[in-house]
Amino acid sequence: MKAAIYEGKEKIVIRDIPKPVPKEGEALVKVKYAGICGSDLEFFKTGLWPGRGVLGHEITGTIAELGSDVKKWKEGDRVSIDCTMSCGKCLFCKKGYTNLCRSGGAIGLGHDGGFAEYLIAPYKSLVTLPDSIPHKYGTVFDQIATDLIALREINFQIGDTAAILGLGTLGIFMLQCLKVAGASKIVVVEKNPYRLEIAERFNPDRALKKVALHRIRKAYGKEINGAGFVFECSGVSTLINAALDIVCRGGTIVQIGICDRPIEMHPLKYIMNHNRIQGVLGYLREDFETAVDLVARKLIDPEPVVTKIVPLDDILEEGFKEAINPETKEVKIIVEP
Ligand SMILES: [Zn+2]
Ligand SMILES: [Zn+2]
Repeated sequence: MKAAIYEGKEKIVIRDIPKPVPKEGEALVKVKYAGICGSDLEFFKTGLWPGRGVLGHEITGTIAELGSDVKKWKEGDRVSIDCTMSCGKCLFCKKGYTNLCRSGGAIGLGHDGGFAEYLIAPYKSLVTLPDSIPHKYGTVFDQIATDLIALREINFQIGDTAAILGLGTLGIFMLQCLKVAGASKIVVVEKNPYRLEIAERFNPDRALKKVALHRIRKAYGKEINGAGFVFECSGVSTLINAALDIVCRGGTIVQIGICDRPIEMHPLKYIMNHNRIQGVLGYLREDFETAVDLVARKLIDPEPVVTKIVPLDDILEEGFKEAINPETKEVKIIVEP
């Protein structure tokens, strides 16, 4: 079968590799689409992931073969894949934080993923893709689920205020999630005009090209003078620092965008304002299922987010290189093997 093999920094090569055979408790999934994630782009740019193999953890397809009989699944079933692979036995798993399990890795991150014609997935990773949701949208639950676990961890309440810095896939879905969650005021900041325009369809209270502090603070009212929750979805150091200026006293910054290098910050800002900084890694199964439900009920719309489909052969030029171009018109690029 054809697969895109990640071989280190800026190196992705199309190769023919043996089609895998499912063992007991596993399914062979024929990939329909796999999304290119921000984390894939980080590996591509930095060579951060030490191994080589098939990336792609935002996957949808159909079951091609079952490794053993199981009531719940049959060949031809439409599925999406929860890429988390947790042991179920360690202290973190027992506490319910399967996203923190160290033993499992993830599909597309250590275990061969979706940038190939087929992949192997354990039965417990399979999630039914309802007939009402087109395959094209079967790749986005992972990103919505990451936003949902963030909102739960910080106990976001109806009427709370928010700012979103960076409107990639996670930022635009966060805007939609915040609308569902009943945010009272949302300010978004994004310098890419195409992405800002997409976000404006979801009616943020203010949509700004850059951080204009006085305008942002004013949006929340003189007394509070800042956002209760700032969702930093860009991973860019200047915006991470801007988050410290935008968050209100006692407010929370949620770091969702990936930043993999040390940056300079002024700790006195968050000390004096009694702020909390929350990191977010992956999601839980329940978040993934909620994401499917929100899309099925049309409360979240992936249509403006999934902007481009590229064939597997063009994954390097049309996929990865396009996605890291700062002037790109695309938000989420998905690959069709
Ligand atoms: Zn992802
Ligand atoms: Zn575990």
